[in-house]
Amino acid sequence: MTDPRRRIPRTDDVLAELADLIDLAGRPVVKRAVAQAQDRARSGEIEPESVATSARAALADRRPTSLTSLINATGVVLHTNIGRASLSDDARSALLAASGHVDVEFDTATGARARRGRATLAALTAAVPAAEDALVVNNGAAALVLATTALGVAAGRPEIIMSRGEIVEIGDSFRLHELVRSAGATIVEVGTTNRTWPQDYSEAITDRTGLVLKIHPSNFVVTGFTHGVDVAELRTLLNTVGEERGLDVPLLADIGSGLLRPEPLLPDEPDAATALAQGADLVTASGDKLLGGPQAGLVLGRRDLVERMRRSPLARAVRVDKLTLAALEATLTGAPTPTHTALHADVAELRRRSQVLADSLTDKGLGATVVDHDAAVGGGGAPGTRLPSAAIAIRAEFAEPLRHAGVITRVHDGRCLLDLRGVPVADDQDVLDRILTVAATTSDSASGAASQSAQGADA
Ligand SMILES: *Cc1c(COP(=O)(O)O)cnc(C)c1O
Repeated sequence: MTDPRRRIPRTDDVLAELADLIDLAGRPVVKRAVAQAQDRARSGEIEPESVATSARAALADRRPTSLTSLINATGVVLHTNIGRASLSDDARSALLAASGHVDVEFDTATGARARRGRATLAALTAAVPAAEDALVVNNGAAALVLATTALGVAAGRPEIIMSRGEIVEIGDSFRLHELVRSAGATIVEVGTTNRTWPQDYSEAITDRTGLVLKIHPSNFVVTGFTHGVDVAELRTLLNTVGEERGLDVPLLADIGSGLLRPEPLLPDEPDAATALAQGADLVTASGDKLLGGPQAGLVLGRRDLVERMRRSPLARAVRVDKLTLAALEATLTGAPTPTHTALHADVAELRRRSQVLADSLTDKGLGATVVDHDAAVGGGGAPGTRLPSAAIAIRAEFAEPLRHAGVITRVHDGRCLLDLRGVPVADDQDVLDRILTVAATTSDSASGAASQSAQGADA
């Protein structure tokens, strides 16, 4: 008997058979698929005669990225671990439109270089008229580092004043003051964890002060015996310092969430327009939190300060690409984002959609009920805000196979909960189909161990 491994076709022969695919996908890709098919034949997984067919099938299933699209049924609108904001259709189209050669930094009328991302910056200042100028960088953290560097350290004023009550960890071991320090600045802490007063700031300001940094502690609330100094009070104080001591110390409000205007649903969440109106010189925020856009760091405010940041050598290292600029412009000028839609979803309508799904599941003999649920903003926003919502409750054992099927749920109190707040209406049928598929392949004797489901809502 001949060893079947000796029947494995030679690479060149298979490649010749797959010549049409080489034209489409390129030789290295096809060669890799052939090698994998040969390995499978060697291990006895497939017949040696199937190598070409197997490689062809693998190439047909090939995806351009290993990133897998997920349905967010967690009830956490901005879930950091699954990519924060889901982009609007406009933003997705913009990404495609910008993916080739584009006039990101070029004036087609004159053939000369033009201001990079000018339409996006114009959209930002149009959305926040109180901002004289705007800058877009890689993310909120980059905006802070750039401000610290350009306005503080590089200007010979390396001391950054922060309230102890705002020295916080906002995400997975991410501490803003350590970030600021990493830029070579010294943090001057004022006040105490629970109370900070205007004179704490006044006493700390010197001619070495680069910035007064007001951080919105976006993932927790302090209650009880507390006092903070708000942006308006800091403005008054800094004006006095300016008059009495001739120091122009910029006030930077890091609002995090990216709300450009007040959002009535989230009354405690700061917004750029209000912070600037109250006297912040600069506001920094993220693009992919409540704004609902791509990952980006927004800087809005006084023209001279934005210009100093723009001119910093570091600006080049944190600048955004044409894709981000395009998606951000579309987010600012286009239809409401999925984040906005999720935030504003009516609870009665969510309950109705949940009931339709639960009824269909019950019709198929699966136990499903609709329960009240608290959704959350997530992404380090609106920590105290519960968004009343509804969830479809099914057996906890479904959570893990559903996760494998691309539906991220919440396991709570021994049940698997699906909250449709973050699910576009158009995806309801898809969610139902995936549950049914999972149910058909999950045995009734499945272990009762509640599987882990993504629930983190950190920043
Ligand atoms: C989220 C957040 C940041 C960091 O922004 P990224 O865009 O994630 O880099 C900074 N400050 C505050 C207050 C935040 O909430």
